[in-house]
Amino acid sequence: MLPSLRGNQLFIKRDDLYPLCFGGNKARKARLFFKDIQKTNADYVVTYGSGSSNHCRAVANMAAMHGLSCLIVTPEETDKLTNNKRLAAMFGAEYIYCPVDRVAQTIEATLERLKNQGHTPYFIPGGGHGNLGTQAYVEAYEEILTWERQRNCHFDYIFFASGTGTTHAGLVCGKLLHGVKGQKIVGISIARKNPRGRQVVLDSMTDYLGHASFPEEEVEFLDDHICGGYGKYCGGIVETIRRQMIQNSIPLDVTYTGKAFWGMEQYLSSHEITGKNVLFIHTGGTPLFFDDLEQII
Ligand SMILES: *Cc1c(COP(=O)(O)O)cnc(C)c1O
Repeated sequence: MLPSLRGNQLFIKRDDLYPLCFGGNKARKARLFFKDIQKTNADYVVTYGSGSSNHCRAVANMAAMHGLSCLIVTPEETDKLTNNKRLAAMFGAEYIYCPVDRVAQTIEATLERLKNQGHTPYFIPGGGHGNLGTQAYVEAYEEILTWERQRNCHFDYIFFASGTGTTHAGLVCGKLLHGVKGQKIVGISIARKNPRGRQVVLDSMTDYLGHASFPEEEVEFLDDHICGGYGKYCGGIVETIRRQMIQNSIPLDVTYTGKAFWGMEQYLSSHEITGKNVLFIHTGGTPLFFDDLEQII
């Protein structure tokens, strides 16, 4: 529990401390993908992401841990040396560069080449998208439920950074599967705009649940705080990051968690919400905090 925020009790789920691959939602998702990989005889893992991607760092770490080779298809436009990239290099992952509009073909060609060489590749979608990624956050939701039951507490609001939407989809599926009422799950978009951003969450839910007959209004995907897009920041984001690090020792970054935390503060004040139990899910990305520390904070 953190000091109160605008008259609300603020709680935080520290998934950044998830004890695998330097934590975060990508580590949670990667764990399930590698459980699945162990059922196959794959010797290569192929995935997609930028140089700053938390997902690629988590996958590269898991691959090395399991003695598998790891290839990362990455758009050359986003290439820069980041802490995640340094870590991926330490895990022995290899990058394959291509123009951003040739990502799909490059993935296809890479998988084909490996097969022709007699290898068995396993593909993990960018960001850990897909039903296994969704499952990871159904499980996280169940951890939240257990926590609430043990302490006789109910969260009125849950906030977090929403990107490719599987974290979001998993949380809402968890809520629906357990019939929880009186709780708003609010994803703060860090890049995508509506209607597409929200639609991707709905699609992930339909895919996971195997049907589309759920109340769509359960998905609140807020695109008011994207500040011009992925990795861009504005307003009070840097100030929020400073304050949280100083007062609560919580590292946030400008791309994901800092943006979402700031978005949550804005939401609580613009909706005049007070006297509620509010949970923020820290989705990780600690290496980005250190990248930001060099340049921004
Ligand atoms: C990827 C990421 C997100 C967004 O998760 P999605 O499941 O893609 O919506 C949020 N926070 C951090 C730190 C991330 O790395």
